[in-house]
Amino acid sequence: MRQAMVAGNWKMNGSSASVSELIEGINAGVGETSAEIVVCPPFVYLSAIAAATADSAVKLGAQNMCDQDGGAFTGEISGPMLKDIGCEYVIIGHSERRAMYGETDEITAIKYGAVLKNGLKPIFCIGETLEERESGVTEDVIGRQIDAILESDGVASLANAVLAYEPVWAIGTGKTASPEQAQDVHAFIRGKIAALDAGIADGLRILYGGSMNPGNAADLIAQADIDGGLIGGASLKADDFLAICKAAG
Ligand code: PEP
Repeated sequence: MRQAMVAGNWKMNGSSASVSELIEGINAGVGETSAEIVVCPPFVYLSAIAAATADSAVKLGAQNMCDQDGGAFTGEISGPMLKDIGCEYVIIGHSERRAMYGETDEITAIKYGAVLKNGLKPIFCIGETLEERESGVTEDVIGRQIDAILESDGVASLANAVLAYEPVWAIGTGKTASPEQAQDVHAFIRGKIAALDAGIADGLRILYGGSMNPGNAADLIAQADIDGGLIGGASLKADDFLAICKAAG
């Protein structure tokens, strides 16, 4: 049985005051869900949120990571640093990083390996654009994105990772994949992994991301191969985020 997971990607939002209010609200309600709850604040607030979650079940994730462990890499943050301040998860391959910061399949695979090497767990994002969906190549795109990490780190690496299917056309747009559309892709992903290792596929958590909110979360997470959510906008309001967490378990 896979434990559901809900991860909040706060992106580049917040201030010292607002993130502290947000985490207080989340801490207050986290006892009411059996799902694993992760928050991914901007780097500069990670230590503050680590302190604020020290006595709570909420876990900490980063939104990105350098593939190098240290040295002359101005502006970057390393795996050992994230580990040092108490991170457990790192989002890799988010579509915003692929589209706006030139992260190719090759780069995402290198970062994925670096996250694992540092004893952290990747939340590896994959997803097709609207154009790709409308051209009927969704499975080709998802397959290629997953192949990048399978070729570099092998299927066994997924025992320490989480996948997040995030159709690019649904991220931050208010348009959500229907539960059936999402389930079809999640089943494709699990089937692809199962063809290599049935046990890994069975234990692998595959989150859905893309305008998930308190109104649509339960129907999405009820699907057989959807194990929770990666939440952007709705993770910035404690009540909405907690409602999604409760829908997950
Ligand atoms: C995301 O960016 O990972 C995401 C799912 O965003 P939103 O929930 O705002 O669509």
